[in-house]
Amino acid sequence: MEQVTPHIFAETQYRGCNPGFVVTSEGIVMVDTPQMPTDALKYREEILKKGEVRYLINTEPHGDHFMGNCFFGGIGVAHEETRNRIVQTDMNAIKERMSMMDPGFKDLDSFTLRPPSVTFTQSMKIYSGDHEFVLLHLPGHTFSETAVFVPQERVVFTGDNIFYNCQTFFQEALPKEWLQSLKTLKTLEADFIIPGHGEICKMDYIDEQAAFIEDWIAAVKNAVEKGWSLEEAQERISFLDRYPMLSGMADFGPQLQKTNVGRLYALAFENRL
Ligand SMILES: [Zn+2]
Repeated sequence: MEQVTPHIFAETQYRGCNPGFVVTSEGIVMVDTPQMPTDALKYREEILKKGEVRYLINTEPHGDHFMGNCFFGGIGVAHEETRNRIVQTDMNAIKERMSMMDPGFKDLDSFTLRPPSVTFTQSMKIYSGDHEFVLLHLPGHTFSETAVFVPQERVVFTGDNIFYNCQTFFQEALPKEWLQSLKTLKTLEADFIIPGHGEICKMDYIDEQAAFIEDWIAAVKNAVEKGWSLEEAQERISFLDRYPMLSGMADFGPQLQKTNVGRLYALAFENRL
């Protein structure tokens, strides 16, 4: 667990996303939850030393950000579309997968789906003690991607719109909107970013993330202009030399390149690239 500011803590070493939380004078505000149940239980112990959970915000609809929700209290908050996706989760399939990924965890009955109970569509503010939380809908890595800005701490939790020094996942990305969202992120008066994946970083990394997205777009546009088939594009385009994969996912690198090309190639033919 890393202390980012006097009131903000985050964990960047778990398999899955980077969960974090803010200690306010009226309780804890969490942003995302650990993916692995054994991690979630350890994380909960640490949090409860500092206070009761008051709010639990999810930044996006991928399982590595919300699977641990069931181990925590507080009022769940997320974008409306993030909630819509979470409620569709097939828990039996997840339990099966988790019993292989986290064999140390035996109490699978306690592992349940806990969707957010409060939703928004554009932006919302939450107040807790002296802290203000500004939730912003910033489409990019997913349609419903949400940033949580904490002005009093000069910190922004970006969800997966920032992958710090690791491979970027485009499986359902909206790259044009993503670049626009990064411009909005840059306007926030923050010193630190807690990214969805990778180490905690500074605001200047936003430009590097944007450049990587632009390079991906250019590579796939070039493939389409040259008349390459999808298979040819997937054969020839790889950015694996640029960044490492997320920890524990190294084997998935070549498949991720193919998935990214597939998504961007489809968008190019819809004129959305
Ligand atoms: Zn994601």
